[in-house]
Amino acid sequence: MYQILWNRFKQGKRTHAYPKAPLELPEMYRGLPLIQGSDKGEEAATHCPQQAIFSSSIDLGKCIFCGECEQRSNSEFVRFSNCFEMSTNTREELIVSEYRSIDAKSCLGRKSIRELFGRSFQLRQVSAGGCNACESDINVLNTPFFDLARFGVQIVASPRHADGLMITGPVTLNMKHALLKTYNATPAPKLVIAVGSCAIAGGPFYDSPEVIGGVDELLPVDLFIPGCPPHPMTILSAIVNYLSLHH
Ligand code: SF4
Ligand code: SF4
Repeated sequence: MYQILWNRFKQGKRTHAYPKAPLELPEMYRGLPLIQGSDKGEEAATHCPQQAIFSSSIDLGKCIFCGECEQRSNSEFVRFSNCFEMSTNTREELIVSEYRSIDAKSCLGRKSIRELFGRSFQLRQVSAGGCNACESDINVLNTPFFDLARFGVQIVASPRHADGLMITGPVTLNMKHALLKTYNATPAPKLVIAVGSCAIAGGPFYDSPEVIGGVDELLPVDLFIPGCPPHPMTILSAIVNYLSLHH
């Protein structure tokens, strides 16, 4: 017992201070892409497995961050930065180009949601056909390093206890009905968060006849969090920025 307490004391606090202190992810992490030279876009588009590149822009809703466009163009078309803050309020804002990037800090939530719920916000997670990687990255938000609960945000078991839904997966036809029922069981006003490329635009399953191909085909989405899967910090920062939980 003494040893356990001593180890705890020695380890100290493991939760990162973000957003009060900046957090630097490793160089190898592929975050917000910085488009360098539009003239290389056409060629890069031919290598994109997601058809996410068009007119020298990248649709981060479709992108799975495979890095193919960066490698094939020797970083001349795009370079992936290690910036993890890249959530948006609208689907259109996920399209980035040489002239237009994402400012996730300006991605504020509906006033009614922020004022009503303040620092007590419950979310129900729905996997609408995800591969379980997005779901795993949501799970780790409860570990000591991220500790999403310190902002008053909890994942709950029932939609009836929830203030919003956090949806992953491309919404398979088999999950459509269950998702709609869960949405209807959540009391208003409610927030809908699409987490990951699948939930935003079908992800790697975008051309399958078995998927709807994005939550916004079915429900009004308030917050889009790109990635395949999104880094836990991308999810955490999106929620913190959206609900203005910085303090
Ligand atoms: S990183 Fe995104 S845009 Fe680039 S090739 Fe992969 S899916 Fe396409
Ligand atoms: S976005 Fe990627 S990681 Fe997330 S459920 Fe889809 S395939 Fe899996």
